[in-house]
Amino acid sequence: MDIVSLLRDSGLRATKSRIAVLSFLEQQRVPISISEIAEKLGAVVDPVTVYRIIDAAKGAGIVKEVNLGTGSISYELAPDGHGHHHVVCTSCHKIADVSSCHEELLSRDALKEARGFASITGHSLEFFGLCKSCS
Ligand SMILES: [Zn+2]
Ligand SMILES: [Zn+2]
Ligand SMILES: [Zn+2]
Repeated sequence: MDIVSLLRDSGLRATKSRIAVLSFLEQQRVPISISEIAEKLGAVVDPVTVYRIIDAAKGAGIVKEVNLGTGSISYELAPDGHGHHHVVCTSCHKIADVSSCHEELLSRDALKEARGFASITGHSLEFFGLCKSCS
């Protein structure tokens, strides 16, 4: 993926540290927390900057927050604004990706049910269970 174009297309300046953080995110097979990113990139980008970069990328809709039930929020690159969802093993924390979620249907129902809301702009959905070796 061309991280420089991704940043520019979403209205963010392609600075060295932004490129470093997003390229690192792209290489991860599973979502990762800010402290894990800061730990790995410590020599290149300081933790406060990592936090700001993730926050800006989240605002621009190219990074997604993922709650894996670990107590800290994880992040992953979602260039299309949606990305995918996950199934997490509650015993060994193995993670598998799930692509479909019937987003339009769910959003429409959610909007129908939620009083006082005018629009749905995003969603967060992860599944928890036991993997084959843990069950
Ligand atoms: Zn993922
Ligand atoms: Zn497991
Ligand atoms: Zn979805």
